[in-house]
Amino acid sequence: MRTVTVIGGGISGLAAAWALRDTARVVVLDTAPQVGGKLRTGRVAGVPVDLGAESMTAMRPEAVRLAEDVGLADALCTPRPAPVTVWSRGALRTMPPGHVMGIPTRLDELAASGLLSDHGMAQLRRAEELVPPTTSADVADVTVGEYLTPLLGEEAVERLIAPLLGGIHAGDVNRLSLASVMPQLAAIAQDGEPLLAALRRKLSTGGDAPRPSPVRGVAGGLGHFAQEVARASGATVLTGTTALALDSEPRGASGWRTHAATADGLLTLDSDAVVLALPAHGAAPLLRPHAPLAAEALAGIDHATSAVVTLAFSRDGTTPGPLTERNGFLVPPGEGAAVKGATFLSTKWSWQSDAAPDLFLLRASLGRAGNDTVSSLTDTQLLRVTVQDLTAAIGPLGSPLATEVTRWDRGLPQYHVGHSERVRRIRGGLAGHPGLAVCGAAYDGVGVSACVASGFTAARVVMVGH
Ligand SMILES: Cc1cc2nc3c(=O)[nH]c(=O)nc-3n(C[C@H](O)[C@H](O)[C@H](O)COP(=O)(O)OP(=O)(O)OC[C@H]3O[C@@H](n4cnc5c(N)ncnc54)[C@H](O)[C@@H]3O)c2cc1C
Repeated sequence: MRTVTVIGGGISGLAAAWALRDTARVVVLDTAPQVGGKLRTGRVAGVPVDLGAESMTAMRPEAVRLAEDVGLADALCTPRPAPVTVWSRGALRTMPPGHVMGIPTRLDELAASGLLSDHGMAQLRRAEELVPPTTSADVADVTVGEYLTPLLGEEAVERLIAPLLGGIHAGDVNRLSLASVMPQLAAIAQDGEPLLAALRRKLSTGGDAPRPSPVRGVAGGLGHFAQEVARASGATVLTGTTALALDSEPRGASGWRTHAATADGLLTLDSDAVVLALPAHGAAPLLRPHAPLAAEALAGIDHATSAVVTLAFSRDGTTPGPLTERNGFLVPPGEGAAVKGATFLSTKWSWQSDAAPDLFLLRASLGRAGNDTVSSLTDTQLLRVTVQDLTAAIGPLGSPLATEVTRWDRGLPQYHVGHSERVRRIRGGLAGHPGLAVCGAAYDGVGVSACVASGFTAARVVMVGH
C-alpha cells in the first residue's frame, strides 16, 4: 500500500484521508489539539455549539453525502424555514423570497419591505430592461460590484448582495471576483436576456412546490461531523503536530519527508505522497523550496480575519420577539455596525433548542476583509460591541449567562479578481512534483462542500496523478 501524509486535519484534509481509506496508509497531522479546523464544536453554558462553520450547502452533494457515508444520515437536519433578514436602514427587514445570491426578482415585495430607498428601487426597476454583458473565460474577470452596479444600482448591490456575500466570504464586493464567487451568473449572462427575466425563468424551473432548504446542519455540531470523518477514514491522526518543512526524495528514494514539531520534540515522516490541506499562508512556506511560483501565488491570497461571539441567555418572558420569529440577520457593510451577521441558534436549529430548552443561544459574526476591527479589539471589547449592535437590532437582551469569543485569524481566503488564474498558476507549479497535491478553502470554494470536493480531488491526484 502507498503511504500518504495529509498535512492539515480540517474538513479538506479529512475528506482526502477518507477518500484514501482503501488504497493508502494515511497519517493526518494537525497543529491544533483536535481535528476539524473551522469545523469546531465547543460548549457554551454546557451546551454544544458550533464556534466556526454551522451549516453546509445541500445544493451540491459532496459534504452531505460524506456525512451520510460516515454514519451521520440521521443527524443531518434542516434549519427552521425562515426568510433572509437584513438589518437595513435602521430596522430588521425581510428579504422577499425569489432572489439569487441577493439579486431580487420580486420587486413589488422588495419595495414593500423597505430594504431599499425609493431611489434605490427606481434604479433597480431599470434592470427589467437591461441585458447583462456576457462573461466568459476569455473576457477579463471583473469584480461583483463592477459587473452588477450598472445593472442593479449601487443600493441594491450594497444592501442586498454585499450582506449575502459578506456572510459567506466576509469580503468586499468591489474586490471579489464575479467568476469565482457568483459563477452561476456567468451562465445566465450567456442568454442575451434581461437579467431579472433570466433569473425568474431559472427560479421557475422548480414550479411552485416549496423549495427544500439549501443547507444542512449536523445535530451535535459540525465539529462532530469532522471527528466522524476522521474516525471513518481509519487514518492515524497526530494532533498537536505542526509541519515545519518538506523534503523531496528522502535518502535518494522517491517520495517526501515531512519534518514536524510535537510537544515531545521533532518528528520526521516519510511517505510516498503528501497532501497539503492547509490555509494558503500555511501551504506557501512548505512549498517554497519545491514550487516557488506556486508558493508565491499562494502567499498573494488575501484573507479576512473574523470572530464569532456566542451568547447564552436564560429563556424567559423577556426574550425579545425577533429572536423567536427569525433565524438571524445579515448586516450590509455600510450600516456602521461591527456585527456582520447574527444567527439565533435556538430558533434556527431544533437540535440546539432540544439540547437546552431553558436557554436561548445566539451567535454574532464580526470582521470583514480590509477591516481590522476584530484584530484591534480585546475579547471584552468584542463582546461589548456585539451586545450594542444586537440590542440596536433586536432590543434589550439582559445579561448573558455565558459567552464565548472565538477568533478566526485570516480564516477566510478572499477570491479577488483573477483568483481562478491564480489557482491555475498554483496547480501548474505543482505539476512537476508527482505525489504532491493541495486542497482546501484557498482554491475552488470556501464552503464546506467545496472543501470536501477539493479533498477528494487531492486524494485522486496523489494516487493517479490527475
Ligand atoms: C467563522 C467561520 C464560519 C464559517 N461558516 C461556514 C458555514 O456555515 N458553512 C460553510 O460551508 N462554510 C463556512 N465557513 C468556511 C469553511 O468552514 C472553511 O472554508 C472550511 O472549513 C475550511 O476547511 P479546510 O480544511 O480547507 O481548512 P481549515 O479548516 O483551516 O483546516 C486547516 C487545518 O490545518 C491545520 N494546520 C495549519 N497549519 C498547520 C501546520 N503547519 N501543520 C499541521 N497542521 C496545520 C489547522 O490547525 C487546521 O485544522 C466558515 C468559516 C469561518 C472562519
